Amino acid sequence: MGRYTDAVCKLCRREGIKLFLKGDRCHTTKCAIDKRGYAPGQHGQRRVKRTEYGIQLREKQKMKRIYGVLEGQFRRYFRMATQQRGVTGENLVRLLEERLDNVVHRLGFAPSRAAARLLVRHGHIEVNGRKLDIPSALVTVGDVVGVRPGSRDLVVIRQALEAAKKRPTPAWLEVDPAGLKGTVRREPTREDAGLPVEEHLIVALYSK
Ligand code: SF4
Repeated sequence: MGRYTDAVCKLCRREGIKLFLKGDRCHTTKCAIDKRGYAPGQHGQRRVKRTEYGIQLREKQKMKRIYGVLEGQFRRYFRMATQQRGVTGENLVRLLEERLDNVVHRLGFAPSRAAARLLVRHGHIEVNGRKLDIPSALVTVGDVVGVRPGSRDLVVIRQALEAAKKRPTPAWLEVDPAGLKGTVRREPTREDAGLPVEEHLIVALYSK
């Protein structure tokens, strides 16, 4: 499976906003957006006139980068979203929010989605009492996502939980920090996700 291996701060600089891909560092003065708030590369500081296509493309790239999903998988989510009832853009956001790595991050067990993905892949996470090591697995209402018994003392999880106290848990999840587990109370809505993305532009892009 392909994955992005270059510096992730470049992704934020390309989009011109903080995508919070690095956990705690994003909230410090070390953030690359604060230090160099222009696009990366030799011509990064040039003024670029955006076309309609360019604007739509940037929205799609932003969404992919926030969730750490590559193009092929993102298109699959889009296809699933079109096949579901309701507004396609909102379905797309809901599907991405329901990814296991996102839920682990939202519950505060990992400082970023990338770190959450590693926790899942390395077998530190269980769903309904059974190990699940597939970051793209989608959770459903009633699922209980927790840290496996042998992984509860991991420093990265303890530190993430401490840092997570400063940010609210989304209303669609209920977290039990002492038990290192959380429950999916309901499906996430567009508002729950709180994304700086206009998903209708992504729908317009893929509908061409
Ligand atoms: Fe983006 Fe975080 Fe890097 Fe800042 S520190 S540019 S928010 S990944």
